[in-house]
Amino acid sequence: TNALARAESLIAVTPDYPEPGVLFRDISPLLADGPALRAVADELIRPFDGAFDIVGGIEARGFLLAGYVSALTGVGMLPIRKAGKLPRPAAAVSYALEYGTATIEGPDVLAPGQRVLLLDDVLATGGTLTAAQELVRERGAVVAGAAVVLELEGLRGREPAGDVHTVFTA
Ligand code: 5GP
Repeated sequence: TNALARAESLIAVTPDYPEPGVLFRDISPLLADGPALRAVADELIRPFDGAFDIVGGIEARGFLLAGYVSALTGVGMLPIRKAGKLPRPAAAVSYALEYGTATIEGPDVLAPGQRVLLLDDVLATGGTLTAAQELVRERGAVVAGAAVVLELEGLRGREPAGDVHTVFTA
């Protein structure tokens, strides 16, 4: 659609951020445009209609997508956080970065068997989304699927992360 095409053009690309050689994609201009955001949110959840009970957003831009989808669909939301921010983390999963490791944590709110749709802005190497899937399963819940606004295909994130629904690719 028109709105989707415009949404793609609203992803800002910044070279050498946060370090030299990295081409950073920022969805802030897309988030700022109501019709573009609506079109992207509709497309994010299109394959998962009726197949999820709660939406999980990965800090930080994934929170915004999860909040929007929660309001659109009436399901609740699960904030998946960088380590050290939650008072009572129920589960923590560490994963490898290019240099060192990172940890994500989730709150103790998932019910056994609850179907979680995971959302994030960008799929890069797939480490973050893979860890989020593990976090959900560790709590006895089910990964209903994963969707991102933009997949950076060259980084092959779907090799670890599995089947990820992507709105745009670069
Ligand atoms: P991965 O774990 O797939 O390598 O990296 C994905 C995580 O890092 C996501 O949470 C995503 O928000 C962030 N990320 C990686 N590359 C970019 C980028 O170019 N732009 C933005 N906004 N986030 C990125």
